[in-house]
Amino acid sequence: MNIVFLSTEAVPFAKTGGLGDVCGSLPLTLAERGHRVTMILPAFASIRNSGIAIEPTDITLWVHIGGRGVGARLLKARLPGVDVYFIDHQAYYDRPSLYGDANGDYRDNCERFAFFCRAALQAIDRVCPDVDIVHCHDWQTGLVPAYMAYHYESHRWMAHARSVLTIHNLAYQGRFWVHDMPLTGLGWDRFTPDGAEFYGDLNFLKTGILMADMITTVSPTYAKEIQTPLHGCGLDGVLRQKSDSLRGITNGIDDAAWNSETDPHLTKTFGSGDWVTGKTANKQSLQVEFGLEPNVSLPMIGLVGRLADQKGWDLILEVMRWNLEENRPVQWMVLGTGEARYHEALAALASEYPDRFALKLGFSDPLAHRIEAGSDLFLMPSRYEPCGLNQLYSLRYGSVPIVMATGGLVDTVVDANEQTIADETATGFHITEFTAEATDAVLGRALTIRYHEAVVWSRIVVRGMTTDSSWRKSAHQYGDVYAKTASLRR
Ligand code: ADP
Repeated sequence: MNIVFLSTEAVPFAKTGGLGDVCGSLPLTLAERGHRVTMILPAFASIRNSGIAIEPTDITLWVHIGGRGVGARLLKARLPGVDVYFIDHQAYYDRPSLYGDANGDYRDNCERFAFFCRAALQAIDRVCPDVDIVHCHDWQTGLVPAYMAYHYESHRWMAHARSVLTIHNLAYQGRFWVHDMPLTGLGWDRFTPDGAEFYGDLNFLKTGILMADMITTVSPTYAKEIQTPLHGCGLDGVLRQKSDSLRGITNGIDDAAWNSETDPHLTKTFGSGDWVTGKTANKQSLQVEFGLEPNVSLPMIGLVGRLADQKGWDLILEVMRWNLEENRPVQWMVLGTGEARYHEALAALASEYPDRFALKLGFSDPLAHRIEAGSDLFLMPSRYEPCGLNQLYSLRYGSVPIVMATGGLVDTVVDANEQTIADETATGFHITEFTAEATDAVLGRALTIRYHEAVVWSRIVVRGMTTDSSWRKSAHQYGDVYAKTASLRR
């Protein structure tokens, strides 16, 4: 089939989180399976650091937005099997970061991404008018299913193409004040509760959910959770209304980039047969680099992620403090960037316990790989987690994941209990209550096995390392969704 991916992130061009990983690897897997895949992204400043040649094209796009005509050039690059186009308008996209700075979201985000959606429609018309499926990702592209359903600008391809919208995180909705509505180019008659309006505001994601031919999200459990008031972020009613068109497909990982046997970032590469020596060497180098006590027999607990409320940092900080104050025999290694309050609290704790707690505030892909390789356990007590990728990387690198029993974490980690240890299916540990006490108790249970039941621990590690978390299975499911969507009548 002929599929166009519309996204704001895709490795190696732009990434702030899991969306970048998914859109960097899923299109390539689909192309390997015989689909024709084209990707359209904004020309963010970061695309210049991708190491991939980007060429100008002679195609220009023109959008009437905010009372004026705004132009963009189309740039082009090539990934294995996939054509990538960038919508280049420097005033919108050539900025230090993708969505905002220290003062919060960029104030013109509505205009930036409404423009992206509208320019993308024209780009499709120019470069792949025989498209079957336009696959939109997250709120930034949420207006596109509406444009397609309304035959906006009467593009010919809209008559036969169908839309799929994937929700990578329902909490980010692209909600803007009502006066931004004209930027969308949709008439005021679309600003209704069964359209773009959400409690008096304009909502990109809601628009997409209502108008997409098919909706997917990134794990089966999250697909169920978002239809409940607890995890629905105000859109659970809309999602229940569309529940027949909603599917959960678990993310895969790029197993070329995340392969402990070939990873160029590691001090020592290793597989499931020599994980003990591999892990020891990688742990040792982290201990030296970060000035931790040079003792490889201490279990290391790794954490990598956005320093955002979602990831449970309030609870992590509490658990860390208890462990450090009581001098329990573990070390901590944290890599993250995000909210200032977590930067401050983590930095204060790290300076109090320099031999037990190593902290790197910032974004570093190589260090993320090294932490997965050097740590024995990986802690992820997320408040909610659409899919989560770090637990999948952890499994692959033999860092046993301890996860909150929510969303994709439930779908990808098998809790170690009497039954699953006996029938040899356990790959990690579930925390079933969102409290620091429950997290600490599960961490204690894991450490007890790590210290006293070496054979059981080793089996858990090896099973995780040999679990198939690649895109193969999921790409097949996306193929089914595309086929079903293409056959829908509007
Ligand atoms: P989310 O998309 O909610 O941030 P995921 O677990 O799905 O969470 O994906 C996060 C991705 O971003 C992973 O690839 C993770 O390694 C990466 N990541 C997050 N924070 C950092 C960081 N500070 N440095 C390097 N990689 C990071």
